[in-house]
Amino acid sequence: MKEKVNLKVIASWDDGTTADLKMAEMMLKYDIPTIFYWPSYISRGNELAMTSSWLSEKQCKEIASRFEIGSHSVNDISMKKMQIAQISREINDSKKHWQDVTGQPINSFAYPKNSMNPLMKALLKGAGYTSARTSLTGFLNNGTDPFEIKCTVQIGIDRIDYKNKCWELFAEEMIAKANEDSVFHIFGNPWDIETFGDWENLENLLKILTGR
Ligand SMILES: [Zn+2]
Repeated sequence: MKEKVNLKVIASWDDGTTADLKMAEMMLKYDIPTIFYWPSYISRGNELAMTSSWLSEKQCKEIASRFEIGSHSVNDISMKKMQIAQISREINDSKKHWQDVTGQPINSFAYPKNSMNPLMKALLKGAGYTSARTSLTGFLNNGTDPFEIKCTVQIGIDRIDYKNKCWELFAEEMIAKANEDSVFHIFGNPWDIETFGDWENLENLLKILTGR
């Protein structure tokens, strides 16, 4: 990969598994502004999420003491076909839950399963959120709508929109397109990175992005 320094890098990580602990360490090491988006169902108990387990309340508090926390709804399921009352519960109950657990205001939301639409945006605004992140990749800026924050690359997943490239190569391609005005927004599910053994590849990317 070509080296490119002075790039503004931000990150957001979803789902609230114990892989977030390792991610938090890495984000601190490379000094990346980061939001962790958690669904509030993780507080219900100890079902396993793939290779990682859910964060305990104590671990949530630890991460929240160093990072901004956002809501990823209550259940992290598609909200496209939900009734308004159900959507409202998903966005309001999760906001209140994480405010109570972390003691910080919860202002940002990450749409579960590409659930963004005009109704969702309106309901989020009404609930007091100030921003929401999509799962759209291939962008080098956040976009103009704070309720439609765009991303650059999803880490750990070789997505269809990468057109037969692995995520590492897609990231390389985006770095080549970036300039000093770019915001390079990496995101994903830390448990994917754990599952596919991609920590080293992520760290290599961070080294290039931060010029270290
Ligand atoms: Zn999710």
